[in-house]
Amino acid sequence: MIIDFHTHIFPDSIAERSMDFLQKQGNVRAATDGTLSGLKKSMKDNHIDISVVLPVMTRPSQFDTINRFAAEINGKDGIISFGGVHPDTDDYIDNLNTVKSLGLSGIKLHPDYQETYVDDEKMVRIIRYASELGLIVSLHAGIDIGLPDTVYCPPRRAANMLKQIDEPNARIVLAHMGGYKQWDEVEEYLVGRNVWFDTGYCVNKIPAGQLGRIIKNHGADKILFASDCPWEGQQESYEFISKLKLSEDERDGIFFRNALNLLGI
Ligand SMILES: [Zn+2]
Repeated sequence: MIIDFHTHIFPDSIAERSMDFLQKQGNVRAATDGTLSGLKKSMKDNHIDISVVLPVMTRPSQFDTINRFAAEINGKDGIISFGGVHPDTDDYIDNLNTVKSLGLSGIKLHPDYQETYVDDEKMVRIIRYASELGLIVSLHAGIDIGLPDTVYCPPRRAANMLKQIDEPNARIVLAHMGGYKQWDEVEEYLVGRNVWFDTGYCVNKIPAGQLGRIIKNHGADKILFASDCPWEGQQESYEFISKLKLSEDERDGIFFRNALNLLGI
């Protein structure tokens, strides 16, 4: 079984436009056309059983559209969609109650696209209340290749956020092995903390030795296989993680068991 804990899609009506824009902005080539059917095809081709879809909300006004779409696709054909909340919302409590009532398992926050530091009170209160509701919180972490100038979730600030949450049952996921292209800081501030890392967009980006060391020191039970598809192909992600020297138990944990535990499946 394989679960990909970090994927993106867009509704069909805006997929082409959004994908054109994002590919130019990040100077990258996407692995799918960014649609739901494109993701499902990739899952079928690469034997991925479940993909967790993470919507990136760039404006508070997108709350209804994004969460309605998430609820529509959630739980069907191997798709588990998280919802979204924007830190500049007027009513984060009402927003999070709505996400919960729609039956979604978690929320995605993107500090860079939401221009809010991860340890800003506006983020912290959302993460804290989401955790109280039992929602998983998945965060972009480290440098964003589309918006590299200011890093809104560097490991040092992520550690500061974790300290403020103080909720033992919080289930917080930091994407890109805790902080894209900031892995020395990940080792300094985050390894060993009560937080999960996903492997999204790491193929040939993170030195293999450092990746192995982070997994060993952090604990393989808190690592989630992820591609960040369409920004990385599910096939190349699978091959990259498969090549690591891991025990069978660690491999099973990373590829599906940790995700099943987190999702409560
Ligand atoms: Zn992503």
